[in-house]
Amino acid sequence: MNKRVAVIGAGPSGLAQLRSFQSAAEKGAEVPEIVCFERQEDWGGLWNYTWRTGLDEYAEPVHSSMYRYLWSNGPKECLEFADYSFEEHFGRTIASYPPREVLFDYIIGRVEKAGVRKQIRFRTTIREVYYSVKSGRFTLTAHNLVDDMVYSEEFDNVVVASGHFTTPNVPSFDGIETFNGRVLHAHDFRDALEFNYTHMTFGMRLNLKEKISCSSAPVILRKTSVPNVINMVQSPLPAVIEPLRWDSTGRITGKKSLC
Ligand SMILES: Cc1cc2nc3c(=O)[nH]c(=O)nc-3n(C[C@H](O)[C@H](O)[C@H](O)COP(=O)(O)OP(=O)(O)OC[C@H]3O[C@@H](n4cnc5c(N)ncnc54)[C@H](O)[C@@H]3O)c2cc1C
Repeated sequence: MNKRVAVIGAGPSGLAQLRSFQSAAEKGAEVPEIVCFERQEDWGGLWNYTWRTGLDEYAEPVHSSMYRYLWSNGPKECLEFADYSFEEHFGRTIASYPPREVLFDYIIGRVEKAGVRKQIRFRTTIREVYYSVKSGRFTLTAHNLVDDMVYSEEFDNVVVASGHFTTPNVPSFDGIETFNGRVLHAHDFRDALEFNYTHMTFGMRLNLKEKISCSSAPVILRKTSVPNVINMVQSPLPAVIEPLRWDSTGRITGKKSLC
């Protein structure tokens, strides 16, 4: 019996698996049957931008953490596929730090050329993976969201390519319960337009100070008294970093506060 391999997720990692198997088959190798399961309605993983936040139309958690005005934080030369250059895709040289849509187009171009889309079951969430020591096989429980149908299938191997920037970690810290503003995780951030002249608080890890300064208005960055948290104020003034606190009523205080 031909071996079966399941790939969970059709983001850049899952698509790289599909492309590798297709490339091996092209070179004459005997490859297993590949089935890729993708919760979203299209491929691209995090690069498949959506305006949605929270839950989607099927009550699944929205996967993408990407925001509207995202630009690559690394030069495209470090992201290039060995077997599919940016020049081949766009037919000319392009700038080094492309915006989100350009990278999405490039990632998808490679797998479109490989013709692997037919291996993907879209709008299908894997709910459970069970390994049987006795049979040496995996049973996957899949949920077809469109037909609301749950079914199981067996596979010899499973590639988990479900991503790791999806489920927000929202820590609590002293004073947040009296903060009068809106608390928003970066996962749910789409653009900064609504925050003109208001304060925003983010975890530092996603390097949002650079990303948001690419949006419509310049920003003032203020470090809070809480470690690893930065407060951001959109402003026509040049960006500065300074300490920021809020009082017992939740109003933001500080000598240069714009509140
Ligand atoms: C804000 C932000 C900016 C970034 N900027 C850059 C950048 O500039 N350059 C760069 O190289 N990288 C960047 N990254 C990193 C990014 O994680 C990778 O580029 C890439 O998307 C990781 O690919 P992946 O396939 O591993 O995961 P993902 O892209 O997360 O894809 C995982 C896929 O699995 C699917 N899935 C998850 N669970 C299930 C399930 N149970 N059943 C079925 N399907 C499932 C999801 O729907 C998704 O399509 C950024 C990430 C974020 C959050």
